[in-house]
Formats: sequence, C-alpha cells, structure tokens
Amino acid sequence: AKWVYAFGGGSADGRAGDKDLLGGKGANLAEMSGLGLPVPPGFTITTAVCTHYYANGRSYPKELRADVEAALVETGRIAGRGFGDGSDPLLVSVRSGARASMPGMMDTVLNLGLNDRTVEALARQSGDERFAYDSYRRFIQMYSDVVLGLDHEVFEEILEEEKAGLGVEFDTELEAGHWRRLVEVYKARVEEELGTAFPQDPHEQLWGAIGAVFSSWMNHRAITYRRLHDIPEDWGTAVNVQAMVFGNMGNNSATGVAFTRDPSTGEKKLYGEFLVNAQGEDVVAGIRTPQNITEEARINAGSDKPSLEKVMPQAFAEFVDIAGKLERHYRDMQDLEFTIERGQLWMLQTRSGKRTAKAALKIAVELAEEGLISRQEAVARIEPGSLDQLLHPTIDPAAERDVIGMGLPASPGAATGEIVFSSEEAEEAKAQGRKVILVRVETSPEDIHGMHAAEGILTTRGGMTSHAAVVARGMGKPCVSGAGSLRVDYKNQTMLALGRSFSRGDVITIDGSSGQVLAGAAPMLQPELSGDFAAIMAWADENRRMKVRTNAETPADARMARSFGAEGIGLCRTEHMFFDDDRIVAMREMILADSEQGRRAALAKLLPMQRSDFVELFEIMAGLPVTIRLLDPPLHEFLPKGEEEIAEVAAALGVDAEVLRQRTEALHEFNPMLGHRGCRLAVSFPEIAEMQARAIFEAAIEAGSKTGRPVEPEIMVPLVGIMKELEFVKARIDAVAADVMKESGTTLHYLTGTMIELPRAAIRAHVIAEVAEFFSFGTNDLTQTTFGISRDDAASFLETYRQKGVIEQDPFVSLDIDGVGELVRMAAEKGRATRKGIKLGICGEHGGDPASVAFCEQVGLDYVSCSPFRVPIARLAAAQAAL
Ligand code: ADP
Ligand code: MG
Ligand code: MG
Repeated sequence: AKWVYAFGGGSADGRAGDKDLLGGKGANLAEMSGLGLPVPPGFTITTAVCTHYYANGRSYPKELRADVEAALVETGRIAGRGFGDGSDPLLVSVRSGARASMPGMMDTVLNLGLNDRTVEALARQSGDERFAYDSYRRFIQMYSDVVLGLDHEVFEEILEEEKAGLGVEFDTELEAGHWRRLVEVYKARVEEELGTAFPQDPHEQLWGAIGAVFSSWMNHRAITYRRLHDIPEDWGTAVNVQAMVFGNMGNNSATGVAFTRDPSTGEKKLYGEFLVNAQGEDVVAGIRTPQNITEEARINAGSDKPSLEKVMPQAFAEFVDIAGKLERHYRDMQDLEFTIERGQLWMLQTRSGKRTAKAALKIAVELAEEGLISRQEAVARIEPGSLDQLLHPTIDPAAERDVIGMGLPASPGAATGEIVFSSEEAEEAKAQGRKVILVRVETSPEDIHGMHAAEGILTTRGGMTSHAAVVARGMGKPCVSGAGSLRVDYKNQTMLALGRSFSRGDVITIDGSSGQVLAGAAPMLQPELSGDFAAIMAWADENRRMKVRTNAETPADARMARSFGAEGIGLCRTEHMFFDDDRIVAMREMILADSEQGRRAALAKLLPMQRSDFVELFEIMAGLPVTIRLLDPPLHEFLPKGEEEIAEVAAALGVDAEVLRQRTEALHEFNPMLGHRGCRLAVSFPEIAEMQARAIFEAAIEAGSKTGRPVEPEIMVPLVGIMKELEFVKARIDAVAADVMKESGTTLHYLTGTMIELPRAAIRAHVIAEVAEFFSFGTNDLTQTTFGISRDDAASFLETYRQKGVIEQDPFVSLDIDGVGELVRMAAEKGRATRKGIKLGICGEHGGDPASVAFCEQVGLDYVSCSPFRVPIARLAAAQAAL
C-alpha cells in the first residue's frame, strides 16, 4: 500500500478528491500544489496509517519508516535544505488533518527539527538570531505540550515572568539574547519536570510528533467534537509533514487567515486577519489583536492598525489573486491560511469555509447567480437543520439599549441569560432549565460543552477567527468576541463594564449581529425570512415533490406556519383546545356526567367554541387542506390532580369533592399511553366525536362561504388498531355530515382517515384502507408502540444506550428506519394496494427531521407535517430528497 503522498514544487501525488485517504488538509494541499500555487513542499501520511495504528496496538505498518524518510529527503530537495543539516537545516510542521475539518481539536507542532546545533545554523543562515531562538522556544513549548504532555502554561509563566522583569508588554519586544536565555530555562524546566532532556535528534522529534498527532485522534476534545458533529471514529486522521515557512522572520513577514467571503454575513468581500512577525498559532490564540487584511475592512472596523493591503501591497495583491482562483476552482467560499516570509507569499491551507446559516444562504444564492453553481446545487448545499439559526430572534431596534460593552459580531442572533463564568456552571444551569450566557476571557476546545449549554457566548479577547467565534458560528449560537472594555475577574466571579460591576447570575443580553453587550433582558423581534432565504426556498420548492404541512391548532401557530410556507395543516390536535378556562369547565362537566344525556348537554356548550376555532383555522388556511384529529388523550388528563386542586375544582363546578375524587380514581390508568384514549374514547362515547364532527362541518361551511374557497376537511381518527373501530366511528361522522348538509342545504366534501400509530394498524393497513381515505403516520406513538418504550420515561436510559453504542440516534428525534420505518413502508404499500392513490402523510416530530424527511420521500408519502418553526427545514429537506 502507498502510505505516504508527496506534494510541493508544482505537483502532487494526491488531489482534492482524496479527502478520505489524505484528510481535508492534505488533499487540499495536494490540490493547491497541483494547481501550481506556492505551497511549501511536504507529504501526507494517510488515514489508512491511522486505522492501522489503532488496529495494531498503536504501531505502524513496517514500510512506513522508510517511506517517510524517503519523502523527507524529497521535501528537503525541493526546499533546498536537509533535515537535521548542520548548515542549512530543513524545519517542518507536523499537522493533523481529518476528513472533516475539526478546527483546533487535534495537535500541530511547528519548527520541528530544531536543536542546539540547527538553531545556530538557522540563525546564521537567516542572519537573524532573534528569529532563530524565538522559533526554537516556540518549538520547545509546542513539542513539550503536544508530544511530552507538559502543559504550555508552564512555559507561558516563565515568559510572563521574563517580560515582567524586563518591563515589556509584547513578545515582539524581546531580543535575541532574551530568547536564547529563555530556551535554556525552558529546556532545564523540561528536564526537571520529565527527568529526561528535551530530545535533540530531529528524527526522534519527528516520530514523536507523528505519534502524537495519531494519538490526538483519541483525545477527549476530539472525541467530544466527533460526537457533536456525527463524525465516525473509524475515519482516522492523516498527518501532514510540511517544510516550514516563517512569518516570524521580521517585519516583512506575517501570518494570517482569511475567508474569500464574509463568513458571518456571506458578503462577497475578502475577509481576514493577520499579524506581522508572528507564527500561525498567534492569530487564533488571540495573543495580540490581529490586523485587518483589506483597507476597507480596516476602515469599517475603525482600526488604527494598518491593513495588509497597506503594509505589504505586493503580497496582498498576489493573495487576492490566489483567493479568487481558489474560490472559482472549488466553486465555494474558501477559508485560507497563509504565511508571508520576507515578502514571499505561501499558502498553507484551503478548505470550504464554515459559515453562518445566513452567510450560507447568501453565498449559495450568489454563486448560483454568478453561474459558478446551478440552482439545484445551491439548494443541495444548504444544510436544512442550519435554517434553525435564521429563526433566532434579534433585538428590537426600537427598544432602548443599556449598552455596557462592545465586541466583535462573531456569530449572529441575540441571546439573553444569566452570567456564568465557566463551562461547568453553564452545564449545571442548563440542566436546571436556566438560560445563561457563558462569559470568558477566551474559550478553548475544553469549553465546547459549556458553549453548547449556553444561549450565547461572550469573550473579552480574540478576533473573528478566535476559537469562540469559529465554534459558536458552527453551533449557530450568538457570540460576541473580543469585548475588550469588559474585565472578567474569575476569582471574584464578576465582570466589570464601564465602572459597573456584574456578578454571576445577573442577566445580560448579547447581540451577535452587532457586537453589543447589554445589561438586562432586551425585547426581541422575530426574524424576517426574505431575500436569500426566500430565493433558496423558491428554488427548493421547484424541486420538491412532497407537500409540507404543519402541526398547529392555534391561529398564531397556523399563521406563522403559513408565513414559513406551510401548505396546510397535517395535524390539529383538538385536545389542546379544551384547556382554556371556560372550556375546561364544560369538559369536566362532560366527564363527570353519568349519562349520555348529561354528556351531550356539556358537549353542547363546547360546540360553538370548537366551531369558532375551526372557522378561524380554515380561514387562515384559505382552502388548503386541514387535518383535524378527534380527541386523543385519556379523559383523566382533564381532571385535577391532588386533594387541593380537587377541592378547588369541585367548588367551581358545584359538585361534591367526593364525587370528583371517585371519578378521578375510576379513570386512573397505569399506562395512560396505552390507555382509554384515541378512537377508544369515540367508541365508548360517540357523542364526543359527533360534537367534534359537527363543529368541523359547520365551520367548513361557514369558512367556505366567508373566503369563497371551499374547505375540504380531513377528519382523522387516532389510535386505530382494528378496522372495525374506524368503521364504527366513521359511520357516526358520516351521519353527522349528512345531517349538517341537510340542515344547511349545501354539499360538503370531506375525508375520513386514520393515524397509523400502532403496529397492528400497520400490519392490517390493507384492511383498514377499505375504510380509511387517508393515512397519517403518527410516528411519535408508532415509535413508542413499536419499541415498547414510553417517550416520557425514555430519557433516563436512551442516552446511556447512545453512549454505549446500543443505538446510534434517539428514535424519537430521527425515525428508526430499520424498524418503525419498515412498518411505515409496509403500511404505505398495503394501503395503496387496497385504495389506489390513498393520501399518505406523516405528522410525528420526525416530519421536521431532515433524515426522516428523506425517508418519507423514498417511500413516496404525499406530505410531511411538522411544527411551524421546522417548516422551512422540511421544505428544504424534501427538495434535497427529491433532487
Ligand atoms: P489547525 O488544523 O488547528 O488549523 P494547522 O495544521 O493548520 O492546524 O496549523 C496551525 C497553524 O500553524 C496554522 O496557522 C498554520 O498556518 C501554521 N502552519 C502549519 N504548517 C506550517 C508551515 N509549514 N509553515 C508555517 N506555518 C505553518
Ligand atoms: Mg489550519
Ligand atoms: Mg398519537
């Protein structure tokens, strides 16, 4: 097998398409090199070596050593230097790079190959002793941290002490002699801590670093990141060994990162940051505040530090040119890393840039309009789940703002919460149902848990490409970074802002779109979904086959869903309509009545209220299909619980508390999920179904004549397992319809169907379809009944199941395609066999889950129905499934 792939000098063994084998970084380094761009030479050790490493007790394929040494010689040949050479040493970086980008999760070592001898050569050869020793101390620090397991803070303390002693603020103020002395202190410290000297043999260093990168695949950070992003463990990482170029070779050297478009807004503007006389890590670590790349960005940011455009115009021009080339070549926004060594530009990385959902939309739409991609590709590029980000509220611009600080608008959306200063606290608060803003000087990969738990993230240090900013954008969480006027004091758990002091637990609001930090909770506005959003949605709709409906029973939800593009209601849960103050009274009267006559009297009170609910929904839906489900939950859900409440309710109803208590006891169930509910109620008490049917039909006639669009209601009978259940209820519904038509002198079209939410219903679907005019898969209950798991109790063990690898995903979130899905597929086929063209839909939570939507397309359902906020997601997912 070929374990090692070389690149550099205008050619490469690999290509961009080889990501699985070379990792994203390696594949793109190869591609750039093949395109003839200036890439320092090097080679990639493949992910197959990683797999081999873990499959064989952390050992390498036997040919690897020779292959690597040979590749190293070739790298040196192109670079014109020799690894370990005493006069002109080749230094390398050792960089991790998995298939999917995992920014900052694994380790990189720079300046490898330096030792007491080669550092002298580097000093001589570069004519810059300061640079050579600065590089050496960086190397000792990184290598000790990554390979030897010595925390980098050990070294930072030494450095801080040195700087304090000299009375200087920045590393750049230290001179050659200082670094030379620090190197000795560092080495002594390593020996003191580890009992062995810092390794001087470059080859030993190299193999140490390679091993460390492979090992870092299994570090805690990387494991967590993979879990959060569904990256399989067996992908492994590649290792890139690459000749060093130096951004720390004086004031005509620099290092930076850039995006070809603004990753926050998507605007077509080169966007990036750089530092003069620095090495790569410095930019991300937020050690110094970076400078803008373009003059325009500098002016917009109101920065007085000169832009790259200004200080290195030639390298800047070349960079702009390469950035454009790469974007056109990859036909996507790129995230670039570069270094300028004494005026010469080198490209160190390119990849498709992470972006906010808002930016993703703008970029996809504009790339399509520029003709770089097709509209279908634009639709395919948007991750449906990410649209959620756009549904974030923003601060009402009309509201007064108590601004206490200002940072960078690192990730859009606004969030309000209590201040917490650590990720642990954020997690605890979240577990208690409290909303928090995680406030940190800066974040590190150790903070991803806390960032997840927080509503938003605020840091006082770091730029737009700092850890906090990048990770927050990926998570779709509002983030303000680098709010430099705020002072965080971890010890006293306070944050100082313009002379005001805020403590843990105080409420603040952050605006990730403007960078503002506000005291207290600010009034929020719901987002507007026009522009690029509307364009992508329209293109999605052109490619979509399935309809998208919503689950809604309130007028507010129905309206919102329509504004999100819902094409009808797939599930109106009527029980939610019975909980209002006056309605619950009538409902309880009905439950307490001991005769059909008594029940009918109470139901008569509910009829007009129910009718007016439906009139409003039908009007909002203006002729679009509306599926109304008859009463579903067991009756005890409407009765009071506990002595106190029973006494209160009894008094309000004017009945004896004892009577109420007895009725409550009589209705008690051990397994309400499997209890006296659904169509079982309608069989026991048909008068309830009759009242609901009458309300529906009368409302349909009324709304139809008001809007001029005839309403064709779909009445859905829940929890049918036996055909006769449906037959019985349908006969009652049909009788009511006949009555209403006769009374009103109009004709009505309506459908009667059922939910398929019991395994028996799926198995007997061909028989049930003799009566049912449509099926709606109630996959919440179908999942419960198929697994025999109660959704309300499942949380306590499903997470354990996930962690132990028993299940991959929570079946209540993403449809269990193998089991529950098989029942859906079978029932759909059986239903169609009996009744050609039977209308089929899904109305469980899964209707808004992209993977489940894709499955629905596969089995050929007519529509999916989901909660209003997921309608855009379902529209996009349905389009992608159909592409
Ligand atoms: P990450 O995946 O965390 O970004 P990288 O492997 O890209 O890690 O490296 C970290 C930093 O070191 C980056 O800023 C990168 O540009 C810089 N770097 C990596 N290799 C070299 C090299 N050969 N010469 C100069 N800088 C390098
Ligand atoms: Mg990188
Ligand atoms: Mg159900």
